[in-house]
Amino acid sequence: MTRLAPSPTGALHLGNARTFLINWLLARQLGWRIILRIEDLDGPRIKRGADRAAIEDLQWLGLDWDDGPIYQSTRLPIYREAVEQFVAKKQAYPCICTRKEVDSAASAPHAEDGANVYPGTCRGRFESLAEAIEGGRPAAIRFDTRDAVVEFDDTFAGHQRFDVERQLGDFVIAKADGTPAYQLAVVVDDAAMGVTDIVRGDDLIDSTPRQILLYRALGLDDRIPRYCHVPLVVGPDGRRLAKRHGDTRLATYRSAGVTTGQILKLLGRWCGIENIADVTGARDLVGRFDLARLPRTNIVFDPTRELL
Ligand SMILES: [Zn+2]
Repeated sequence: MTRLAPSPTGALHLGNARTFLINWLLARQLGWRIILRIEDLDGPRIKRGADRAAIEDLQWLGLDWDDGPIYQSTRLPIYREAVEQFVAKKQAYPCICTRKEVDSAASAPHAEDGANVYPGTCRGRFESLAEAIEGGRPAAIRFDTRDAVVEFDDTFAGHQRFDVERQLGDFVIAKADGTPAYQLAVVVDDAAMGVTDIVRGDDLIDSTPRQILLYRALGLDDRIPRYCHVPLVVGPDGRRLAKRHGDTRLATYRSAGVTTGQILKLLGRWCGIENIADVTGARDLVGRFDLARLPRTNIVFDPTRELL
């Protein structure tokens, strides 16, 4: 079982379409069932109708699924219960620090992504959530990563080792407004839905040790999925392909008369598939894709210079 998990915060563009395609191709090659999960918890960033648009884009490419769509926004009580259990078992704790306080903490080292590592200020500070919010400040919930070291073998990226406490720090599992954080919701869902294989962009590789810690804390070590993190499509500046590089939304190409086959030929080349001349739908690529031939480095694409 795997999942296609679009977040309706924007339209599908060439970069995320390629990652979805790789995930789908592996599923159809290896016989994994596919669940479509709409990750719509990031309230302010969710765009109305973007979920339908993402579904249309996937269908236009010829990517199908076996279950879903399931919307995370319909599962809030389930996430809340998980958060409460972590707090009750002292695996997580309330934190009333503002972002500014975290950023200015003198001891805070920088994580690789430039964010500050939370220095653990509120660890053991409050007996309960009620006590934490007594002063009138809202409390986020952080997972305690004390002494946590996580190793895993990534199918594509190879062996990984993270000293989570030092490199990433205690991470938020519920935001101060009560919204479950990405790491928490994903693990609760993947575990509940029986997901065994996760394929995603390697910008998420440092989410994986955090998610593995949540599996362990839930007592679900035997259900930790296999991970496959693949390189991204980036703009000429080396940053993940995005709006600032130009409009690469599938919907824009579609309305300009570009065919599914033309898009799949480009995406197919980016997946290391050579024999693509007759491709008209995603099915045509299933037998031709080989993970071992997937380029090991990011694909650089400049939408202002290169045309399909
Ligand atoms: Zn704090």
